[in-house]
Amino acid sequence: MGSYGIYIHIPFCPSRCDYCDFYTLTGCGQLFEPYTQAVIASLQTAPLPGGSRVDSIYFGGGTPTMLGAGRLTALLQALRQQYQVAPDAEITLEANPVALTLPMLQQLRAGGFNRISFGLQSSSAGQLQELGRTHTADGAAQAVALARQAGFLNISLDIMLGLPRQSVQEVLDTVEFCARQQVQHLSAYMLKLEENTPFAARYTETDIDEEVQREIYLAAARRLEELGYAQYEISNFAQPGYASRHNLKYWNCQEYLGIGPAASSFLEGRRFTFPRDIEAFLSAANPWQLPVEEGPGGDWEERVMMSLRLTQGLCRTDLLALFPGKAGEADALWGRAAPLMSAGLLTCTPERIVLTREGFLLSNSIIAHLLW
Ligand code: SF4
Repeated sequence: MGSYGIYIHIPFCPSRCDYCDFYTLTGCGQLFEPYTQAVIASLQTAPLPGGSRVDSIYFGGGTPTMLGAGRLTALLQALRQQYQVAPDAEITLEANPVALTLPMLQQLRAGGFNRISFGLQSSSAGQLQELGRTHTADGAAQAVALARQAGFLNISLDIMLGLPRQSVQEVLDTVEFCARQQVQHLSAYMLKLEENTPFAARYTETDIDEEVQREIYLAAARRLEELGYAQYEISNFAQPGYASRHNLKYWNCQEYLGIGPAASSFLEGRRFTFPRDIEAFLSAANPWQLPVEEGPGGDWEERVMMSLRLTQGLCRTDLLALFPGKAGEADALWGRAAPLMSAGLLTCTPERIVLTREGFLLSNSIIAHLLW
Protein backbone atom coordinates (compact mmCIF):
# COMPACT_ATOMS: atom_id res chain seq x y z
CA MET A 1 0.00 0.00 0.00
CA GLY A 2 1.41 3.42 -0.99
CA SER A 3 1.35 6.64 0.96
CA TYR A 4 -1.44 9.17 0.54
CA GLY A 5 -1.52 12.94 0.29
CA ILE A 6 -3.95 15.17 2.15
CA TYR A 7 -5.11 18.60 1.00
CA ILE A 8 -6.98 20.93 3.36
CA HIS A 9 -8.69 23.89 1.74
CA ILE A 10 -8.84 27.06 3.87
CA PRO A 11 -11.31 29.29 2.02
CA PHE A 12 -10.55 32.68 3.57
CA CYS A 13 -8.63 35.71 2.27
CA PRO A 14 -8.15 39.24 3.61
CA SER A 15 -9.16 40.66 0.22
CA ARG A 16 -9.83 39.37 -3.27
CA CYS A 17 -7.09 39.50 -5.93
CA ASP A 18 -8.38 40.71 -9.27
CA TYR A 19 -7.38 37.61 -11.29
CA CYS A 20 -8.42 34.90 -8.83
CA ASP A 21 -11.34 32.50 -9.19
CA PHE A 22 -10.46 30.15 -6.31
CA TYR A 23 -13.20 29.42 -3.83
CA THR A 24 -12.39 31.88 -1.06
CA LEU A 25 -14.34 34.31 1.14
CA THR A 26 -13.46 37.67 2.66
CA GLY A 27 -14.69 39.25 5.89
CA CYS A 28 -15.68 35.93 7.53
CA GLY A 29 -13.60 35.90 10.72
CA GLN A 30 -16.56 34.48 12.65
CA LEU A 31 -16.27 31.30 10.59
CA PHE A 32 -12.62 30.55 11.41
CA GLU A 33 -13.35 28.53 14.55
CA PRO A 34 -16.46 26.65 13.31
CA TYR A 35 -14.63 25.83 10.07
CA THR A 36 -11.60 24.49 11.95
CA GLN A 37 -13.86 22.32 14.10
CA ALA A 38 -15.83 21.12 11.06
CA VAL A 39 -12.62 20.01 9.29
CA ILE A 40 -11.47 18.16 12.42
CA ALA A 41 -14.90 16.51 12.81
CA SER A 42 -14.91 15.52 9.13
CA LEU A 43 -11.87 13.30 9.72
CA GLN A 44 -14.02 10.85 11.69
CA THR A 45 -16.07 9.95 8.61
CA ALA A 46 -13.44 10.56 5.91
CA PRO A 47 -13.20 7.91 3.20
CA LEU A 48 -9.46 7.50 3.86
CA PRO A 49 -9.35 4.89 6.66
CA GLY A 50 -7.77 5.87 9.99
CA GLY A 51 -4.20 4.62 10.32
CA SER A 52 -3.44 5.11 6.59
CA ARG A 53 0.10 6.25 5.85
CA VAL A 54 0.36 9.88 4.74
CA ASP A 55 3.56 11.42 3.36
CA SER A 56 2.31 14.79 2.12
CA ILE A 57 -0.04 17.32 3.71
CA TYR A 58 -0.87 20.62 2.03
CA PHE A 59 -2.86 23.51 3.51
CA GLY A 60 -3.97 25.65 0.56
CA GLY A 61 -6.55 28.28 -0.11
CA GLY A 62 -7.42 30.95 0.18
CA THR A 63 -4.94 32.23 2.71
CA PRO A 64 -4.49 29.49 5.33
CA THR A 65 -2.44 31.72 7.65
CA MET A 66 -5.59 33.76 8.34
CA LEU A 67 -6.72 30.96 10.68
CA GLY A 68 -3.77 31.69 12.98
CA ALA A 69 -1.04 29.34 14.14
CA GLY A 70 -3.11 27.81 16.96
CA ARG A 71 -5.91 26.56 14.68
CA LEU A 72 -3.50 25.42 11.96
CA THR A 73 -1.42 23.36 14.38
CA ALA A 74 -4.61 21.95 15.92
CA LEU A 75 -5.68 20.79 12.45
CA LEU A 76 -2.29 19.20 11.87
CA GLN A 77 -2.46 17.53 15.27
CA ALA A 78 -5.89 16.09 14.43
CA LEU A 79 -4.48 14.67 11.19
CA ARG A 80 -1.61 13.08 13.10
CA GLN A 81 -4.08 11.45 15.50
CA GLN A 82 -6.09 10.02 12.63
CA TYR A 83 -3.35 8.98 10.23
CA GLN A 84 0.15 7.62 10.31
CA VAL A 85 2.05 10.69 9.13
CA ALA A 86 5.51 9.70 7.87
CA PRO A 87 8.42 11.18 9.87
CA ASP A 88 9.74 12.79 6.68
CA ALA A 89 6.32 13.94 5.41
CA GLU A 90 6.25 17.18 3.40
CA ILE A 91 3.85 19.49 5.29
CA THR A 92 3.18 22.68 3.34
CA LEU A 93 1.38 25.86 4.26
CA GLU A 94 0.40 28.45 1.65
CA ALA A 95 0.89 31.96 2.95
CA ASN A 96 0.36 35.54 1.93
CA PRO A 97 3.51 37.54 2.67
CA VAL A 98 1.66 40.03 4.86
CA ALA A 99 0.89 40.04 8.56
CA LEU A 100 3.30 37.23 9.36
CA THR A 101 5.36 37.53 12.53
CA LEU A 102 8.38 35.58 13.71
CA PRO A 103 6.53 34.11 16.75
CA MET A 104 3.70 32.93 14.49
CA LEU A 105 6.12 31.31 12.03
CA GLN A 106 8.04 29.72 14.92
CA GLN A 107 4.80 28.29 16.32
CA LEU A 108 3.90 26.86 12.91
CA ARG A 109 7.36 25.33 12.50
CA ALA A 110 7.26 23.85 16.01
CA GLY A 111 3.77 22.51 15.24
CA GLY A 112 5.17 20.43 12.37
CA PHE A 113 4.90 22.55 9.20
CA ASN A 114 8.16 22.19 7.28
CA ARG A 115 7.46 23.86 3.93
CA ILE A 116 5.95 27.28 3.21
CA SER A 117 4.75 28.63 -0.11
CA PHE A 118 4.33 32.38 -0.55
CA GLY A 119 2.31 34.04 -3.29
CA LEU A 120 4.73 36.71 -4.56
CA GLN A 121 3.42 36.96 -8.17
CA SER A 122 5.78 39.80 -9.11
CA SER A 123 8.56 41.96 -7.71
CA SER A 124 7.24 45.00 -9.62
CA ALA A 125 5.15 47.45 -7.59
CA GLY A 126 3.04 48.33 -10.62
CA GLN A 127 2.21 44.73 -11.41
CA LEU A 128 1.40 43.90 -7.80
CA GLN A 129 -1.04 46.81 -7.80
CA GLU A 130 -2.54 45.69 -11.09
CA LEU A 131 -3.06 42.19 -9.71
CA GLY A 132 -4.78 43.55 -6.60
CA ARG A 133 -2.08 42.19 -4.29
CA THR A 134 -1.67 43.97 -0.97
CA HIS A 135 2.00 43.19 -0.29
CA THR A 136 5.21 44.74 -1.60
CA ALA A 137 8.32 42.97 -2.90
CA ASP A 138 10.21 44.14 0.20
CA GLY A 139 7.45 42.72 2.39
CA ALA A 140 7.75 39.38 0.61
CA ALA A 141 11.54 39.37 1.04
CA GLN A 142 11.05 40.05 4.73
CA ALA A 143 8.48 37.24 5.04
CA VAL A 144 10.90 34.77 3.41
CA ALA A 145 13.69 35.88 5.77
CA LEU A 146 11.42 35.50 8.80
CA ALA A 147 10.30 32.04 7.67
CA ARG A 148 13.94 30.97 7.31
CA GLN A 149 14.74 32.43 10.73
CA ALA A 150 11.83 30.40 12.14
CA GLY A 151 13.42 27.22 10.75
CA PHE A 152 11.66 26.74 7.39
CA LEU A 153 14.34 25.32 5.10
CA ASN A 154 12.00 24.56 2.20
CA ILE A 155 10.43 27.75 0.88
CA SER A 156 8.57 28.26 -2.38
CA LEU A 157 7.47 31.39 -4.22
CA ASP A 158 4.66 31.65 -6.80
CA ILE A 159 5.15 34.08 -9.65
CA MET A 160 2.90 34.99 -12.54
CA LEU A 161 3.92 35.16 -16.19
CA GLY A 162 2.31 36.82 -19.17
CA LEU A 163 0.42 39.71 -17.58
CA PRO A 164 -0.91 42.32 -20.00
CA ARG A 165 1.91 44.73 -20.96
CA GLN A 166 4.47 42.71 -18.99
CA SER A 167 7.92 42.74 -20.57
CA VAL A 168 10.48 39.94 -20.67
CA GLN A 169 12.81 42.11 -18.58
CA GLU A 170 10.19 42.62 -15.86
CA VAL A 171 9.77 38.86 -15.53
CA LEU A 172 13.53 38.32 -15.45
CA ASP A 173 13.76 40.94 -12.68
CA THR A 174 11.17 38.95 -10.69
CA VAL A 175 13.08 35.71 -11.30
CA GLU A 176 16.32 37.34 -10.10
CA PHE A 177 14.50 38.71 -7.07
CA CYS A 178 13.32 35.18 -6.17
CA ALA A 179 16.81 33.74 -6.56
CA ARG A 180 18.21 36.48 -4.28
CA GLN A 181 15.81 35.28 -1.57
CA GLN A 182 17.50 31.85 -1.89
CA VAL A 183 14.22 29.97 -1.98
CA GLN A 184 14.26 26.28 -2.87
CA HIS A 185 11.24 26.13 -5.19
CA LEU A 186 9.42 28.34 -7.69
CA SER A 187 6.05 27.97 -9.40
CA ALA A 188 5.71 30.19 -12.47
CA TYR A 189 2.14 30.20 -13.76
CA MET A 190 0.95 31.77 -16.99
CA LEU A 191 -1.91 34.22 -16.44
CA LYS A 192 -5.29 32.81 -17.40
CA LEU A 193 -8.26 35.15 -17.69
CA GLU A 194 -10.81 33.45 -15.44
CA GLU A 195 -14.48 34.19 -16.07
CA ASN A 196 -16.26 36.54 -13.68
CA THR A 197 -13.09 38.10 -12.29
CA PRO A 198 -12.22 41.82 -12.44
CA PHE A 199 -9.31 40.85 -14.70
CA ALA A 200 -11.62 39.21 -17.22
CA ALA A 201 -13.77 42.36 -17.21
CA ARG A 202 -10.70 44.55 -17.73
CA TYR A 203 -8.97 42.51 -20.42
CA THR A 204 -9.77 40.17 -23.27
CA GLU A 205 -7.60 37.48 -24.84
CA THR A 206 -6.56 40.05 -27.47
CA ASP A 207 -4.81 42.09 -24.74
CA ILE A 208 -2.45 39.18 -24.20
CA ASP A 209 0.17 38.90 -26.90
CA GLU A 210 0.88 35.20 -27.41
CA GLU A 211 4.31 35.82 -28.89
CA VAL A 212 5.34 37.94 -25.88
CA GLN A 213 3.94 35.25 -23.55
CA ARG A 214 6.04 32.67 -25.36
CA GLU A 215 9.19 34.79 -25.05
CA ILE A 216 8.47 35.44 -21.37
CA TYR A 217 7.98 31.75 -20.59
CA LEU A 218 11.11 30.63 -22.43
CA ALA A 219 13.27 33.41 -20.98
CA ALA A 220 12.05 32.77 -17.43
CA ALA A 221 12.60 29.00 -17.69
CA ARG A 222 16.07 29.48 -19.17
CA ARG A 223 17.12 31.96 -16.48
CA LEU A 224 15.72 29.79 -13.69
CA GLU A 225 17.74 26.87 -14.97
CA GLU A 226 20.90 29.02 -15.05
CA LEU A 227 20.19 30.01 -11.46
CA GLY A 228 20.05 26.36 -10.35
CA TYR A 229 16.29 25.70 -10.49
CA ALA A 230 15.67 22.61 -12.59
CA GLN A 231 12.33 22.48 -14.32
CA TYR A 232 10.33 19.38 -13.35
CA GLU A 233 6.89 20.34 -14.68
CA ILE A 234 5.44 22.89 -17.10
CA SER A 235 5.24 25.56 -14.39
CA ASN A 236 7.43 24.23 -11.59
CA PHE A 237 11.14 24.58 -10.86
CA ALA A 238 13.23 23.43 -7.90
CA GLN A 239 16.70 23.16 -6.54
CA PRO A 240 17.90 19.52 -6.41
CA GLY A 241 15.83 17.49 -3.94
CA TYR A 242 13.10 20.14 -3.53
CA ALA A 243 10.50 19.17 -6.15
CA SER A 244 7.15 19.33 -4.34
CA ARG A 245 5.90 15.92 -3.27
CA HIS A 246 2.36 17.30 -3.11
CA ASN A 247 2.51 18.55 -6.71
CA LEU A 248 4.07 15.33 -7.95
CA LYS A 249 1.26 13.28 -6.43
CA TYR A 250 -1.21 15.04 -8.75
CA TRP A 251 0.88 14.53 -11.87
CA ASN A 252 1.83 10.94 -11.04
CA CYS A 253 -1.86 10.10 -10.46
CA GLN A 254 -1.25 9.07 -6.85
CA GLU A 255 -4.16 9.10 -4.43
CA TYR A 256 -5.00 11.92 -2.04
CA LEU A 257 -7.82 13.13 0.17
CA GLY A 258 -9.09 16.71 -0.19
CA ILE A 259 -11.08 18.30 2.65
CA GLY A 260 -13.19 21.47 2.52
CA PRO A 261 -15.41 23.27 0.00
CA ALA A 262 -13.98 23.07 -3.57
CA ALA A 263 -11.41 20.44 -2.51
CA SER A 264 -11.00 17.41 -4.78
CA SER A 265 -10.02 13.86 -3.87
CA PHE A 266 -8.73 10.87 -5.78
CA LEU A 267 -9.28 7.72 -3.74
CA GLU A 268 -9.75 4.07 -4.66
CA GLY A 269 -9.82 5.02 -8.32
CA ARG A 270 -12.65 7.60 -7.87
CA ARG A 271 -12.41 11.35 -8.31
CA PHE A 272 -14.84 13.54 -6.37
CA THR A 273 -15.05 17.24 -5.39
CA PHE A 274 -16.81 19.16 -2.62
CA PRO A 275 -19.22 21.87 -3.81
CA ARG A 276 -18.04 25.48 -3.48
CA ASP A 277 -20.35 26.03 -0.50
CA ILE A 278 -18.97 26.59 3.00
CA GLU A 279 -22.44 26.74 4.59
CA ALA A 280 -23.20 23.25 3.28
CA PHE A 281 -19.86 21.98 4.62
CA LEU A 282 -20.48 23.56 8.05
CA SER A 283 -24.05 22.36 8.43
CA ALA A 284 -23.78 18.83 7.03
CA ALA A 285 -24.19 15.97 9.52
CA ASN A 286 -21.75 14.06 7.33
CA PRO A 287 -19.90 16.34 4.88
CA TRP A 288 -18.66 13.30 2.91
CA GLN A 289 -22.15 13.01 1.48
CA LEU A 290 -21.63 16.37 -0.28
CA PRO A 291 -18.88 15.69 -2.86
CA VAL A 292 -19.87 15.39 -6.50
CA GLU A 293 -18.60 12.28 -8.27
CA GLU A 294 -16.28 13.00 -11.21
CA GLY A 295 -15.77 9.47 -12.45
CA PRO A 296 -12.76 7.21 -12.46
CA GLY A 297 -9.23 8.61 -12.28
CA GLY A 298 -5.85 7.34 -13.38
CA ASP A 299 -7.08 5.93 -16.68
CA TRP A 300 -5.02 5.78 -19.90
CA GLU A 301 -5.81 9.33 -21.07
CA GLU A 302 -5.18 10.84 -17.67
CA ARG A 303 -1.83 9.04 -17.22
CA VAL A 304 -0.65 10.19 -20.66
CA MET A 305 -1.84 13.74 -20.05
CA MET A 306 -0.27 14.06 -16.60
CA SER A 307 3.04 12.40 -17.55
CA LEU A 308 3.52 14.77 -20.47
CA ARG A 309 3.33 17.76 -18.10
CA LEU A 310 6.51 16.51 -16.44
CA THR A 311 10.03 16.99 -17.77
CA GLN A 312 10.64 13.25 -17.28
CA GLY A 313 7.85 12.71 -19.79
CA LEU A 314 5.90 9.61 -20.69
CA CYS A 315 7.68 6.25 -20.20
CA ARG A 316 6.48 3.36 -22.35
CA THR A 317 7.57 0.66 -19.87
CA ASP A 318 5.74 2.37 -16.99
CA LEU A 319 2.64 2.91 -19.11
CA LEU A 320 2.47 -0.71 -20.27
CA ALA A 321 3.08 -1.96 -16.72
CA LEU A 322 -0.17 -0.18 -15.81
CA PHE A 323 -2.04 -1.05 -19.02
CA PRO A 324 -0.54 -4.35 -20.28
CA GLY A 325 -3.23 -4.81 -22.94
CA LYS A 326 -2.57 -1.48 -24.66
CA ALA A 327 0.67 -2.11 -26.57
CA GLY A 328 -1.13 -1.33 -29.86
CA GLU A 329 -2.45 1.98 -28.53
CA ALA A 330 1.04 2.84 -27.26
CA ASP A 331 2.45 2.13 -30.75
CA ALA A 332 -0.16 4.44 -32.27
CA LEU A 333 0.62 7.17 -29.74
CA TRP A 334 4.37 6.90 -30.38
CA GLY A 335 3.64 6.92 -34.10
CA ARG A 336 1.77 10.23 -33.81
CA ALA A 337 4.53 11.71 -31.63
CA ALA A 338 7.51 11.01 -33.92
CA PRO A 339 6.61 13.58 -36.65
CA LEU A 340 6.38 16.38 -34.02
CA MET A 341 10.09 16.00 -33.28
CA SER A 342 11.17 17.90 -36.36
CA ALA A 343 9.04 20.87 -35.26
CA GLY A 344 11.00 20.94 -31.99
CA LEU A 345 7.88 20.24 -29.90
CA LEU A 346 9.06 17.01 -28.29
CA THR A 347 11.74 14.36 -28.18
CA CYS A 348 10.70 10.80 -28.85
CA THR A 349 12.71 7.62 -28.29
CA PRO A 350 11.26 4.08 -28.29
CA GLU A 351 11.08 4.33 -24.48
CA ARG A 352 10.06 7.91 -23.77
CA ILE A 353 8.22 10.99 -25.09
CA VAL A 354 9.23 14.29 -23.53
CA LEU A 355 7.78 17.68 -24.48
CA THR A 356 10.30 20.47 -25.04
CA ARG A 357 9.66 23.95 -23.61
CA GLU A 358 8.19 24.98 -26.97
CA GLY A 359 6.00 21.89 -26.63
CA PHE A 360 4.96 22.83 -23.08
CA LEU A 361 3.62 26.10 -24.51
CA LEU A 362 1.29 24.07 -26.74
CA SER A 363 0.82 21.15 -24.37
CA ASN A 364 -2.98 21.01 -24.50
CA SER A 365 -3.13 20.69 -28.27
CA ILE A 366 -0.13 18.34 -28.48
CA ILE A 367 -1.62 16.01 -25.86
CA ALA A 368 -4.98 16.05 -27.62
CA HIS A 369 -3.23 15.24 -30.92
CA LEU A 370 -1.31 12.33 -29.36
CA LEU A 371 -4.36 10.86 -27.65
CA TRP A 372 -7.05 11.19 -30.26
S1 SF4 B 1 -4.63 35.51 -1.90
FE1 SF4 B 1 -4.65 33.77 -3.35
S2 SF4 B 1 -6.59 32.71 -2.99
FE2 SF4 B 1 -6.76 34.72 -2.01
S3 SF4 B 1 -7.77 36.00 -3.56
FE3 SF4 B 1 -5.54 36.28 -3.81
S4 SF4 B 1 -4.92 34.73 -5.35
FE4 SF4 B 1 -6.97 34.18 -4.60
